[in-house]
Amino acid sequence: MTDGLPMRVPAAGLPARVRIHEVGARDGLQNEKTVVPTEVKAEFIHRLAGAGLTTVEATSFVRPEWVPQLADAEALFPLLHDLRGVAELPVLVPNARGLDRALALGARRIAVFGSATETFARRNLNRTVDESLAMFEPVVARAKEEEVHVRGYLSMCFGDPWEGAVPVRQVVKAAKALLGLGCDELSLGDTIGVATPGHVLALLTALDEAGVPASVIGVHFHDTYGQALANTLAALQYGVTTVDASAGGLGGCPYAKSATGNLATEDLVWMLDGLGVETGVDLGRLTATSAWMAERLGRPSPSRTVRALSHKES
Ligand code: MG
Repeated sequence: MTDGLPMRVPAAGLPARVRIHEVGARDGLQNEKTVVPTEVKAEFIHRLAGAGLTTVEATSFVRPEWVPQLADAEALFPLLHDLRGVAELPVLVPNARGLDRALALGARRIAVFGSATETFARRNLNRTVDESLAMFEPVVARAKEEEVHVRGYLSMCFGDPWEGAVPVRQVVKAAKALLGLGCDELSLGDTIGVATPGHVLALLTALDEAGVPASVIGVHFHDTYGQALANTLAALQYGVTTVDASAGGLGGCPYAKSATGNLATEDLVWMLDGLGVETGVDLGRLTATSAWMAERLGRPSPSRTVRALSHKES
């Protein structure tokens, strides 16, 4: 390796290019205890876009009292207007009111957050799975009327902390229901990080057989058990080209007392750079951004790549 990059050795059977859906500023920060000032979030998002990330999930229009870390969505989003044409800035909207707020600020990409399991739907949305779909239906319909791109998050696709293993057919049913509302893409979440590559292939195969192709799927793996990159590689070999990741591995894991939650974007980019899969991301700039953010949060990044490259420079 040279200059903080892996040696490039392509492997067969992989896509030429992967789109990284960067979730650090929303999914990552939402699970961080230290409340980050709005200007720091704006700088963080600018730096992420400057490192070459073209999809940067910016914030959530959830009720401010529910997620204090993201209570500044109205103040933050206008600070990102200069990123138009540079990066897509999706925002999470929990309901019709959230959509109103997002549209009023000119958001062009939204995401809704569904669950594959009843227990998590009840705990996170205070609804059954069917009730949450009924709540999303007018949100997605109105977004589509406004020609806004809609991502559907589906959490607990591989395991649920209360229900245990989640049957593949149950995930397929929930996935089809979310896409049936009109979502443009679906992000399969391994919310507690328990998936292994065979399980990933089984789900992707079952989805494909049910008429949900890899082209509309994003994968959202957590590294709780160290499986995130292995699972990602399995998904890429199956034809998935959208991968969610969080700069510096921000976010911890809200449902397991572990420091390791979201797959770190740097760890993902290191692997993809080595494989010769294009991401458009400058690993050095991204790592510097995560090191800068870690300083603001007062704790080191859990990303192995951020740590390795930071040690190398110091
Ligand atoms: Mg996550």
